[in-house]
This record gives sequence, C-alpha cells and structure tokens, in this order.
Amino acid sequence: MAVSPRVRAAVSALPGYLPGRPAPSGPGGASYKISSNENPYPPLPAVLEVVQRAAAELNRYPDMGSADLVHALAEHLDVPAARVVPGTGSVGVLGAVLQAVCEAGDEVVFAWRSFEAYPIVVGLSGATPVPVPLDGAGRHDLGAMADAITERTRLVLVCTPNNPTGPVVGAQELEAFLARVPRDVLVVVDEAYLEFVRDPTAVDGLAVHRAHPNVMVLRTFSKAYGLAGLRVGYAVAHEPVADALRRAAVPFGVSGIAQLAAVASLQQADALMERVDAIVDERERVASELARQGWRIPRSEANFVYLPVGSSTPDLVAACSDAGLSVRGYGSDGVRATVGDVPADDVLLEVCGAFLQRWSPDRVG
Ligand SMILES: *Cc1c(COP(=O)(O)O)cnc(C)c1O
Repeated sequence: MAVSPRVRAAVSALPGYLPGRPAPSGPGGASYKISSNENPYPPLPAVLEVVQRAAAELNRYPDMGSADLVHALAEHLDVPAARVVPGTGSVGVLGAVLQAVCEAGDEVVFAWRSFEAYPIVVGLSGATPVPVPLDGAGRHDLGAMADAITERTRLVLVCTPNNPTGPVVGAQELEAFLARVPRDVLVVVDEAYLEFVRDPTAVDGLAVHRAHPNVMVLRTFSKAYGLAGLRVGYAVAHEPVADALRRAAVPFGVSGIAQLAAVASLQQADALMERVDAIVDERERVASELARQGWRIPRSEANFVYLPVGSSTPDLVAACSDAGLSVRGYGSDGVRATVGDVPADDVLLEVCGAFLQRWSPDRVG
C-alpha cells in the first residue's frame, strides 16, 4: 500500500467547517442567502473608494502591526492601543488565542450549541473541548459551565449573543460566573453581534474586560460593519495576553485593503449603525410575526432568528430551499435564519407560517 504523510489524529477527526450554502432559486426568482449572518447592505461608497485605491498597492506587504487600525480602534473603544490585536477575522484571532494558551491535555469550556468554529479551533490545538449544554431557552448555563471547570481548564469561551440561538448573557450573571473562575484561566467574551444588542441588562464585554485581568473580548467587522469578505476582527486583551496574541498571529495576516476598509468603516460608524438599527427593526418585526403565528423561539439580540424544530430540521431547511432561501440547519436541533433583508424576511415568514400549519404546534419551543 502507498505510504502517505502522516496527519495528526486530532486533525483527521475534526469536523469540517460547514459554510452557509449559496442561495437556491425559488418561485418568481426569489433567491436569498440567509445562512451566514451576513450584512445585506453593500459597502458604503466611502469604504469602497478606499478599497479601490488600496488595490493599487497590492505588490506591497501590508503594515504588519496594523498600526492605523489599532490606533483608530483604541480611540473608538477608549482602551490603550497595546491591548488591541487585529487578526484575520475574529476566528483568526481565536485561533491565535488557542495557540497562545492551550496545549494537548488542556481543557476549554464553552456552551453548546454555539459557534461551530469553537470545537474546530479547540480540536486543532490538541486541547480537549468541554461543551456544556445550553438551557431550554437557548441560553448559556453559566452555573453548569462553572461546575465544568477543572484544574486542567485553561480557557472559557462565552458567546453573547449566542450563535445560533440568539440570547445574550446578562451582566450580573457573568459577574457571578467570573467569581467562580480561577484567575489564571482566560475568559473570552465573543461579541460578534454586539452592535445588534438592545437589551440593557446584557453584558458589555469591554466593561468586564476593564474590571478583570483574565477577561478579553473578540469583536469583528464581519457582521454589523459589513466587511465579512475582507476578514478582519480584533481582540481587546490585557497586555500579557495581547503580547502573546501578537506572537501567535499569522505575519501580515490582515491585508492592507482590510486595514484601510476597517479604519474607513470606523469613520463611517454613524451611517453603518443606522443600517444596524434597520436590521434590528426587522429582527423585531420577524420575531413578533413568528410569535403571532404561534412559534415560541429563543429571544434573539443578534441579526438572526433560531427555530428549534428538532428532528424536523431537514424538513424546514428543505421548505425554505423550495421557496428560494438558503438557511442554516443544525442536525436535529434547529434552523438559523439571518434577518434584515425585508423581501427575504417576508419569504421566511411565509414559509414558517405554512410550516407551522403542517407541523404539530405543541412540539415547538
Ligand atoms: C460570525 C461570527 C464571528 C466572526 O467571525 P469572523 O472571523 O470575524 O468573520 C465570530 N464569532 C461568532 C460567534 C460569529 O458568529
């Protein structure tokens, strides 16, 4: 038999990251990709212009330290520049966190179901994933997560709002949780959907970071800022961790185009946040219409809704596909649909209303 190069068993065993499927075509030309929580709005003209100009310098490596972006973020967030570490999307930064903090045998605690990249980046590092089931409302069970911490735990991931279910972690419950976390265990608060949160009791990761030396936040330009295609996100971490993240980063990982587009987007934050407001209004419209139809779903503070249809997940995914919508199905747990694009939301509501008629309502929620 042919001998082939060996691959680590931990890597061969990993599930692949499943990207959201492209849009199918439905009746009347309806065709919407609402499977990846992307922003439906195209880049602002001012951002596009910067990107086009930057393309003329593609023969050069970018600024390795992303200095202009770091300083713009430090000012925008009112934190010392030394704490800001950009990376190739917040998933790229999370990879660096694992490299910097974990080795084989270490344990990483996170809620499940949550962001599908978590078990992959943890598995790649050789550390052991310790998934802790969400409660019945799709929320983090922080008591059970604290109970899951052992002397081997090096890292805890907290996703707020939680992808794919939507609820936030409360400020008070996170404080109570942190009181039970050893101070040499790093806690990452992943706030990819922060800008869509309207619940005043939700945690503010940056405030928690300021108060706790073992807490860092991860944020991204992919969702609210609409730059998913450019791969730029960042960490805000206390200096020992921030230094380690800079060492673990891919050299020149954040392209010059991404750096300039991110800076331009911060300058256009007011215009971009108006779009976020419109997406939030749409989320509330979709959520209340679903409730009126009879659905009981988790309270979403992000740019998506989650339909916990259990073993009927493939049926709902297929019904959406027939109507021209690609949504995200999760095994036999449920379906996540991105909101914010009004015509797509209308099709989604139509499909969900019809689905509920055929499906036993007492099985919802
Ligand atoms: C989309 C998402 C991210 C962002 O990933 P990028 O790599 O920045 O595009 C991070 N965390 C969660 C929970 C997400 O859903």
